[in-house]
Amino acid sequence: MNILVTNDDGINAPGIIALADALAAVGRVGVVAPDRERSAVGHALTLHHPLRATPLDNDRYAIDGTPTDCVNLGIHSLLPFKPDLVVSGINRGANLGEDITYSGTVSAALEATLMGIPAFAISLATDNGGANYAAAGAFAARLARYVQQQGLPADTFLNVNVPDLPADQLRSPLITSQGKRRYEGMIIDKVDPRGRNYYWIGTVELNFLDIPGSDYAAVSRRHISVTPLHLDLTNYASFAAIEAWNIE
Ligand code: MN
Repeated sequence: MNILVTNDDGINAPGIIALADALAAVGRVGVVAPDRERSAVGHALTLHHPLRATPLDNDRYAIDGTPTDCVNLGIHSLLPFKPDLVVSGINRGANLGEDITYSGTVSAALEATLMGIPAFAISLATDNGGANYAAAGAFAARLARYVQQQGLPADTFLNVNVPDLPADQLRSPLITSQGKRRYEGMIIDKVDPRGRNYYWIGTVELNFLDIPGSDYAAVSRRHISVTPLHLDLTNYASFAAIEAWNIE
């Protein structure tokens, strides 16, 4: 199996190194990742300036672009093989609930899915630097084998969150739904030394709703969370209500 590894924390982040190491036991690994941290860039694609790739050792490339750029270059240009699987991570910090819409990590897996290549994103649920990337990497390797043997359902990719715990303290993987978070009080509004206002989008304490069966509910109870995602954001349940507007 040929595996493209990317992330949004940058090519030298501990998570991507642990992931590439773990997946080397499963297949041939190429790494194409941003040359610096590009967290929270979402699904951004660079169109207005050229991209540069710096070749490193062992099929590794550092790109001055986004995770989505990296997936494009990795699949279509840089690697000497076509990937059978794209794995994005291991992100420093969880990707739970609606936060995934900001996530460069999840968007890289989404991009691979758009190109018809099986993919999953994996994140370490940690509030500090993270200590247990190796345990999360071991799970990534196990999951890669399942994807290889079973294949993923059409238009589906996986968003994995692993508690920051040693392997022997992790509980069983649960298949979960995307959770919900309360967003409140996240803008810091201050005045700079020259008297101009500035605004800083901050992070407040994690405020996820403890919904049974959700990604957050699993991770907060030491379970590995595996959420199957798809690209269709249509809210089918809302059709009747919007059709009743009789928009002219
Ligand atoms: Mn990140």
